[in-house]
Amino acid sequence: MRQIPGAWHRAASGAGLVGPDGSIRPTIFAEMSALAARTGAINLGQGFPDEDGPAEVLEAACAAIADGGNQYPPGRGIPDLLLAVAEHQERFYGLRLDPEREALVTAGATEALAATLLALLDGAGDEVVVFEPYYDAYAAIAALAGARLVTVPLRWPDFQPDLDELRAAVSERTRVILVNDPHNPTGAVFTAEVRDELVRLAEDRDAILVTDEVYEHLVFDRPHVPLATLPGAWERTLTISSGGKTFSTTGWKIGWVTGPAPLVDAVLAVKQFLTYVNGSPFQPAIATGLRLGDEFFHGIAGTLRAKRDLLGEGLRAAGFAVSTPAGSYFTVADAAALGTTDAAAFCRDLPERAGVVAIPLTAFTTDARRSDYATLVRFAACKRVDVLEDAASRLAALA
Ligand code: PMP
Ligand code: GLN
Repeated sequence: MRQIPGAWHRAASGAGLVGPDGSIRPTIFAEMSALAARTGAINLGQGFPDEDGPAEVLEAACAAIADGGNQYPPGRGIPDLLLAVAEHQERFYGLRLDPEREALVTAGATEALAATLLALLDGAGDEVVVFEPYYDAYAAIAALAGARLVTVPLRWPDFQPDLDELRAAVSERTRVILVNDPHNPTGAVFTAEVRDELVRLAEDRDAILVTDEVYEHLVFDRPHVPLATLPGAWERTLTISSGGKTFSTTGWKIGWVTGPAPLVDAVLAVKQFLTYVNGSPFQPAIATGLRLGDEFFHGIAGTLRAKRDLLGEGLRAAGFAVSTPAGSYFTVADAAALGTTDAAAFCRDLPERAGVVAIPLTAFTTDARRSDYATLVRFAACKRVDVLEDAASRLAALA
């Protein structure tokens, strides 16, 4: 696509997607899924499951369509989903919130992030602090909001931030600290020390904490801890999640934001002019999902943990060094031991060499820090066991 001036160009350039000739490239996910489709390779690139989620949830959407739930839902979301989100926050985290004022349904976590950052960031001078590598939309949305992205590196192999580097990144210009935990692309779950410091810094600098918790139920070692549950955090935290990963419905795009009413109102003010509303029949279905029994939530974490182990063994056998993720869909592997110095080139060649698609970590970094991640590759574990076994045997060709 040729250069188009304006906000979209700003977003693409913020995300490093504008070529030297001004053309706008597709996101890394679109590019790598297209590569998989073209070559017939196994797609361990884009993070989406290849199996359906719980039947009750799928049936609830069909029933809602059959029952005529096909027109605009209320602007904040259908009351039953808002209630289910509030019940979920209390059941899992002990957070009690008013479903009518402290929750908002959005078109996926992506719209929640966009509306939140557009609502809170006031253009030039405002800074948003994120961990790097970061989910690609963060840089694009920060650029769209005209704000400066300030990054704190997460380093191989445990991907926990250095607290001094975190402190140095947060200043009086920091309006938002955006925290993705469990973290995409590294699979890190932040330590209690990091969480405490994030809240302390936000209080100290009067910044707002925005959390992206879309992988909240995909944790392998211990229960997820939302930042909003920490002392002093609730008043300054907007918590974002989505049904996509938990219920294997990434195409439905039902997300939500919870937090204090004035902050949620600010997000709603932007959201109503982005999508206005979305996904009427999927909203009651996600409400059904949020009310599933504990065995469902334990089950998905246990299943993904086993897949993580299977993928990790395959990667080690193929000669990669492997970082063991504590959560999320993803595992990061170092291809340096396989003789590569450039993971992007390695990933472009991987379909031909081994019939597998993966994503270079440099797709999630700023130019300045690209070299720190030059040999690292992200593999998605959210695929059927037979697909992961097939991928492992194909990757063995690299050893
Ligand atoms: N944040 C992170 C960290 C993600 O990995 C994703 C994944 N797809 C999203 C946000 C977007 O979520 P949704 O599909 O609900 O918009
Ligand atoms: N969240 C998914 C990933 O990181 C895909 C998101 C997308 O395609 N935009 O792979």
